[in-house]
Amino acid sequence: MAEKRDYYEVLGVSKTATKDEIKKAYRKLSKKYHPDINKEADAEEKFKEISDAYEVLSDDQKRAAYDQYGHAATDGGFGGGGFGGGGYQSYGGGGFEDIFEQFFGGGGGGFGGFGGSSRTANPNAPQQGDDLQYNMDLEFEEAIFGTSETISYRREVDCNVCEGSGAEPGTAVHTCATCSGTGVEKVYQQTPLGRVVSQTVCHTCNGKGKTFDQACHHCHGAGRETETHKVKVNVPAGVEDGQSMRLNGQGNEGKNKGPAGHLYVVFRVKRSEVFERNGAEIKYELPINFAQAALGDEVEVPTVHGKVNMKVPAGTQTGTSFRLKGKGAPKLNGNTNGDQTVTVRVVTPKHLNDEQKASLRAFARASNAEVSEEDKGFFDKLKDAFS
Ligand SMILES: [Zn+2]
Ligand SMILES: [Zn+2]
Repeated sequence: MAEKRDYYEVLGVSKTATKDEIKKAYRKLSKKYHPDINKEADAEEKFKEISDAYEVLSDDQKRAAYDQYGHAATDGGFGGGGFGGGGYQSYGGGGFEDIFEQFFGGGGGGFGGFGGSSRTANPNAPQQGDDLQYNMDLEFEEAIFGTSETISYRREVDCNVCEGSGAEPGTAVHTCATCSGTGVEKVYQQTPLGRVVSQTVCHTCNGKGKTFDQACHHCHGAGRETETHKVKVNVPAGVEDGQSMRLNGQGNEGKNKGPAGHLYVVFRVKRSEVFERNGAEIKYELPINFAQAALGDEVEVPTVHGKVNMKVPAGTQTGTSFRLKGKGAPKLNGNTNGDQTVTVRVVTPKHLNDEQKASLRAFARASNAEVSEEDKGFFDKLKDAFS
């Protein structure tokens, strides 16, 4: 935006001009630059400038504000004496409870960008509040079946005493004289390549664009404070470790009536001592003894949905997997469950009683005999072949 000319200069009157003088100057100039009369290219712009100047200087209240604050008084930041929001809708009507907009998952990484709201040129313009992150610990089963929990955390809000202005209630706020309310100071530097302009945060107002007769006793002029905020989180069934959920408007409150930031709830799911989970699939390792593996058996297998009976066929080898359909975790994007896989591990006994030892010796003898018979048959065949 082009630099605005001083309104007194626009109308060509002195700062002490009477209302009559201002009216006369306006009439003269508005006739001269009226777009219907004046066909010069910049006539319309000039006419608008004159009208703007007259609108302010012809109104006692607006003129007083303009004399004190300059253009900042009429540029939207100030309105009728107080700080007026320019028709900006602020969040926080209470309608933001547990709205999940989006899931994105895996790994828990990728949150490096939180908290970095960029500075805007105008410190009095509405700014969205920063996003926040909350790490939520879940039991293994809670992640599978879902849960709901009210969490509380600290978030930044407008100071409850000064309502964000930073000034002690009832005391005056001024546009910063150093930066004219922009919050930014220009620094000119002479370099071998010429004069370079850089911008820094205004040292007088610390970037706020305002100065106070008396800073708010509660926030010491910051206009902000932190408070404990509670929100109910409905964790859907089937979430996984590292996944997150966005709760709109539950982050830091916006500045200057800007919208609030978001809260990202990141799930940290505890491991189970019984099961291992991979997405919707749940893995379980079933230890069985040699006899069960060799002869087959019907065994009870735990699942997150309760115990189920499963047949182990005769001759099952260690490492063999069986699938229990629908006994896994719910799939997030559907209403079906994954499966549970049961992997059999044949356990060699470490301590045997006498009866078990006798049985196994008998088994060994029987097995050796079988082998000898087979071997015998094999050598017989060899003999036959060479004879
Ligand atoms: Zn305050
Ligand atoms: Zn300043």
